[in-house]
Amino acid sequence: MSFWIEKKLHELTTVQWESLCDGCGKCCLNKLIDDETEELYYTDAACHLLDDESCNCRRYPERFKYVPACTAITVDNVAELTWLPDSCAYKRLNEGRTLPSWHPLITGSKDAMHAAGISVKGKTINEKRVRDVFDHIVLWPLKDID
Ligand code: SF4
Ligand code: SF4
Repeated sequence: MSFWIEKKLHELTTVQWESLCDGCGKCCLNKLIDDETEELYYTDAACHLLDDESCNCRRYPERFKYVPACTAITVDNVAELTWLPDSCAYKRLNEGRTLPSWHPLITGSKDAMHAAGISVKGKTINEKRVRDVFDHIVLWPLKDID
């Protein structure tokens, strides 16, 4: 049995919690929410600190200094973060699902995740180069497998 199956989310160590992140980068995409319907739309306009190849944050340890709006995902707020993609490990576990077969904790690398089309790898544009974010609405971040 693995720790994400054996333990409740609030029982995880900080290292275990951090390791749950698959590094897909989808939470770093700009999102739009319809004021009237509250429907969520993802865009391919990524935070300027996101590395589109590794799908990692270029300044992760000090990211709040550069992007104050960046949100730390915790066991206390994960249920409220409705904009997290369905494939997000934190969202999945919080909803009683388990990790997918492509997750790096299971496969040992990000390769299967990239191959399954789950990550943002090679699919984004730096938000600073975007003129009208409404032209950048995309559906691929909705993809969730397993
Ligand atoms: S969406 Fe979830 S699993 Fe993917 S990078 Fe963001 S926090 Fe990690
Ligand atoms: S600061 Fe880093 S972690 Fe936060 S949204 Fe931007 S790229 Fe993602």
